[in-house]
Amino acid sequence: MFFASDNTSGVPDSILSALAQANSGYASGYGTDAFMGQVRARIRALFEAPEAEVFLVTTGSAANALALASYCPPWGAVYCHALAHIEVDECGAPEFYTGGAKLTHVAGNSGKMEPQALREALAQAGRGVVHNVQPGILSLTNLTECGTRYSVSEISELAAIAKSHGLPVHMDGARFANALVAEGCSPADMSWRAGVDVLSLGGTKNGLMGVEAVILFDPARAWEFQLRRKRGGHLWSKHRYLSAQMAAWLEDDLWLDLARNANAMAARLETGLEGCAELLFDRGGNMLFAKWPSGLHRQLQVAGAEYFLWPDHQNLDGPDDLPISARLVCSWNTQPSDVDNFVQWINKQV
Ligand SMILES: *Cc1c(COP(=O)(O)O)cnc(C)c1O
Repeated sequence: MFFASDNTSGVPDSILSALAQANSGYASGYGTDAFMGQVRARIRALFEAPEAEVFLVTTGSAANALALASYCPPWGAVYCHALAHIEVDECGAPEFYTGGAKLTHVAGNSGKMEPQALREALAQAGRGVVHNVQPGILSLTNLTECGTRYSVSEISELAAIAKSHGLPVHMDGARFANALVAEGCSPADMSWRAGVDVLSLGGTKNGLMGVEAVILFDPARAWEFQLRRKRGGHLWSKHRYLSAQMAAWLEDDLWLDLARNANAMAARLETGLEGCAELLFDRGGNMLFAKWPSGLHRQLQVAGAEYFLWPDHQNLDGPDDLPISARLVCSWNTQPSDVDNFVQWINKQV
């Protein structure tokens, strides 16, 4: 009953065997290996973006912070949701790598920015006033931190508002694959065609050991990105071990199959919980949020269930009947029996 995060799962055997194969013989370093050529070609084809540049890093925080730094000056504002990973979970890396850009919240329910709130934030930005940070970049997360999903038209609307103020658009796609298969659109539709300029494409949560791609749809930004990646200590020397993983993940659409399993398991969990817990937010992919009494949480923990309370600063010290929310995440490797055990267990108690 492991629903703490999609990063608690391992990697598929095919990724491990791709690594074993990549381990034989010699390969040139720093991203000049043949696997990286395959990754670049495959991403360009998948995203229908023959000019796009692709770089790999090993954490989502590095992907986001380096992407933002390449598009936003130190005196810029990064417009994001208050719950955004870049705001809450990256220990100031975006501020550090941009050299001090100011993360600026845009309101909206369920982890999604309201277009009107973005319009207002930009209208009040003080462009041209030397005392104010200047509008820098819009950063959207899909799936969002609340497990909801921006549709293609919602992304397009927000991106168009940003563009009307001359701003580029970043997408934190730690769960891009989950959003993509749920939305049922093409990678291009959910990225550059909707106005996204730079995408952090998450691999780790969806079956890799620790690989994230940054896709720059404007190749003119690539050189600066490369310098920043090296300067930030994120250019891997034995790079083939990153590129071989991602090449195998993209082959035969494995990345989409893995995301489909995660989403299907979350759907199964949602159905199972419908009668016995209060579900929060519209599930956009492989995460769901639900509320039940504190006493039941304690019993579930004794039974070995693993998940985070949400928001995670809560505790279970209160009375038994105090409702507390939980975040439940399914992964590429979640089994139907994992879900069914959890659901049965909860149903027995209520
Ligand atoms: C997990 C996650 C990341 C990446 O986090 P790292 O721990 O730095 O790899 C980025 N954005 C979101 C929304 C995430 O959930």
